[in-house]
Amino acid sequence: TIMITGATGQLGKLVIEQLSEQVPAAQIIAGVRHPDKAMQFKEKGIELRLVDYDRPETLQEAFAGVNKLLLISSSHTDDDVRLVQHKRVIDAAKAAGVAHILYTSFAFPQAGHKGTSSVHGQTEQAILDTRMDYTILRNGLYIDFVGVLGLNEAIRSGVLTTLPGDWQFNAVTRSDLARATAKVLAGSGHEHRTYELAAPQTWTFTELAEVLTELAGKPVVHTSDASVQHWIYHFLSSIDTKSTSNDLEQLMGQPVTPLKESIAPFLNLEN
Ligand code: NDP
Repeated sequence: TIMITGATGQLGKLVIEQLSEQVPAAQIIAGVRHPDKAMQFKEKGIELRLVDYDRPETLQEAFAGVNKLLLISSSHTDDDVRLVQHKRVIDAAKAAGVAHILYTSFAFPQAGHKGTSSVHGQTEQAILDTRMDYTILRNGLYIDFVGVLGLNEAIRSGVLTTLPGDWQFNAVTRSDLARATAKVLAGSGHEHRTYELAAPQTWTFTELAEVLTELAGKPVVHTSDASVQHWIYHFLSSIDTKSTSNDLEQLMGQPVTPLKESIAPFLNLEN
């Protein structure tokens, strides 16, 4: 059996949807902390088990009989808490006899980086230390960050204004990540592998403006202005947004979703 934790989250739901197309529902277990949010799984014949990272006493029992366990990283805002939560899951998986643990890490961690990726680096190490079979799925930056860049305002005004700099982005959709993850969960030969689930190419703000132009059917040009202030730039400069990988496309067996299609859900195009 294959268990997915955080199954009611945005990524978890998509992984279960994709996995259901590849393996019988009876082989899938949804690990959830709020079963009332998971009735759609039950209706499909997918077993629900209580998996709350903050209730360690429940975890070992929840993982009983599980062969592959996908630990979806916690969404807690405090990285110290996240690490404790992840370690509880890893310890309980080991104690329950789980054969293969898979973890959603973050793509392209930089050597010595102390920022957002450190909880992932430490979780990866904790997994390696258990000597269980593992697969590390280093997820690329979700495309969602474009949602805070003021794309609708850019369409209205015809100008996408960003902070100056050599910005290049490797960002992906959760659907693509879920597709690749489901292939790994349903397939074999992924033990002791670390995948960078990111796109084979990056895009720039100028290319983003070109895509906005196409989607909006009216010109949107890119310009930069040093007075632009937004927390997202601090975050973006703390991670590696420029590296690329073929892992995601190879695992999916198809090209990544194009930028145009990826950003369309963030736009109010009828306006
Ligand atoms: P969501 O916030 O949609 O889902 C997070 C899931 O984690 C939810 O199902 C939530 O449960 C579950 N969860 C949170 N706390 C606990 C807990 N104590 N015990 C058990 N389950 C818990 O995030 P996504 O699905 O979009 O993303 C998955 C993960 O990816 C995030 O949690 C985060 O670690 C990471 N991430 C990656 C980014 C990237 O750019 N690659 C960006 C942002 C986050 P419930 O449904 O009950 O709330």
